[in-house]
Amino acid sequence: MTAPASSPAAAAPATGDKPPAIRLPAVHLILSDPGCQPLIEQYGRVQTTDAARALLAELRAMLLAARRDDGAGAPASTATAGFEASVARSSAAAGAPPEIAGLLVMLAERLQQANRSHLRAVFNLTGTVLHTNLGRALLPDSAVQAVAEALRWPMNLEWDIDTGTRGDRDNLVEELLLELTGAEAATIVNNNAAAVLLMLNTLALGREVIVSRGELVEIGGAFRIPDVMTRAGAVLREVGSTNRTHLKDYAEAAGPQTALMMKVHCSNYEITGFTKSVELPELAPLARQHNIATAVDLGSGTLVDLEQYGLPHETTVRETIAAGADLVTFSGDKLLGGPQCGIIVGRADLIAQIKKNPLKRALRVGKLTLAALEPVLALYRAPDLLPERLTTLKLLTRPASAMRAQAQAILAPLQAALGAAYAVSAEPMTSQIGSGALPVDQLPSFGLAIRPTGKASNALGKLEQRLRALPLPVIGRVAHDALWLDLRCLNDAQQEKFVAQLQQLQQTMQAPLPAQGRA
Ligand SMILES: *Cc1c(COP(=O)(O)O)cnc(C)c1O
Repeated sequence: MTAPASSPAAAAPATGDKPPAIRLPAVHLILSDPGCQPLIEQYGRVQTTDAARALLAELRAMLLAARRDDGAGAPASTATAGFEASVARSSAAAGAPPEIAGLLVMLAERLQQANRSHLRAVFNLTGTVLHTNLGRALLPDSAVQAVAEALRWPMNLEWDIDTGTRGDRDNLVEELLLELTGAEAATIVNNNAAAVLLMLNTLALGREVIVSRGELVEIGGAFRIPDVMTRAGAVLREVGSTNRTHLKDYAEAAGPQTALMMKVHCSNYEITGFTKSVELPELAPLARQHNIATAVDLGSGTLVDLEQYGLPHETTVRETIAAGADLVTFSGDKLLGGPQCGIIVGRADLIAQIKKNPLKRALRVGKLTLAALEPVLALYRAPDLLPERLTTLKLLTRPASAMRAQAQAILAPLQAALGAAYAVSAEPMTSQIGSGALPVDQLPSFGLAIRPTGKASNALGKLEQRLRALPLPVIGRVAHDALWLDLRCLNDAQQEKFVAQLQQLQQTMQAPLPAQGRA
């Protein structure tokens, strides 16, 4: 930004003591200009007028400040730098007000910026398929269409079409869930954290829940089993040690004060070495002897054996029910591949109690979630077709050769866009499933590694920032002095958009870095 701090408009010769007025067009002149009409049509007269006023006020303040500096060339602040350049561009002659056309360009930019959605599509090239910060599972088209329809139409959300009477929203997916898990009953809430909270609050309010010390999990984003337990009004009874818990530890802790024996999936960590944990087939019979229910927080909660698709084994919900769990809680948007929700399945009498808890009303899901969930669950009726149809599984089972072909196709245009300051190469890398599913398992993948060629300071950080500033931000991973773009989650349609956007990247490589922070 090398525009002079003092624009010609501000540097007009003074007459007498009083400096000349800053000459800017009146708001009504801008609004009545034919060039403003499309803006008024798109954004409305109120918003356009307000934005024009704000623009003129800032412009005036800036011109005044520039005059105070008396053309001394005070350094432009980042906030006003672009602004000044525009003023300089649009000031046709000394003393002339910035042209209306120039102001309209600035006005359009501002309105567009202010109306840009904060929730935006990005390229997930992090290599983490179920990335919590990027919204976890992507849904199949059948679910997308069902959600669109539910947005446009009234739905029988709580209406039994057969009887013409009030229905229960859980019933819309319960039958499918029972079929897929072998459980007696099911209920749906906002997410798995809510499922655990609701289950504990219903069944263990003021009573003890026995959990192994090795399973006191913290999931990213402040979900900790001990904290949820407290908030649910339950009393945590820790047993065993971090690395070893035996059946007798559970047996000794059980008593009249015990409401539940609970097992928690160690989603995002693994304890190895000298370890011992009590598995459900051992624990459930002990709990039953004491007339205590067993609950399992399965976390990811997969509905099929993933080994049949060449992925590592993850205990399924059906296996957990079959092994004697009275209740199982799991997420809808992790390995299941559906919308964000928490699913509780298990014994009919316990689910009935949970549904009566007033908290259920506070944690229930809306019609969009149920619209998306049903078609996703329905896909599981054809497990042989699942890798083609369920987006999450499709991404997880993509062979590295597919990503390698993509990497080779993208390499040259990306290198051209980045220029000589960076070297791009196609390299093998490893993806993760993410969201705490199978944390130690890595999936062989392929992608692009970008390394700075020179010694410029923070070249990777700057590149990462430029990629984020694109209309479709590109999110990669910086590690070992390179920026890694794992192509596992880039489908064909997205690849086209990625390549199309490289031209824009090339242009911005020459421009100064965009300002950081929320626009
Ligand atoms: C992910 C997870 C949760 C939280 O589930 P959300 O759907 O993110 O609320 C709870 N427990 C375990 C074991 C998990 O893996």
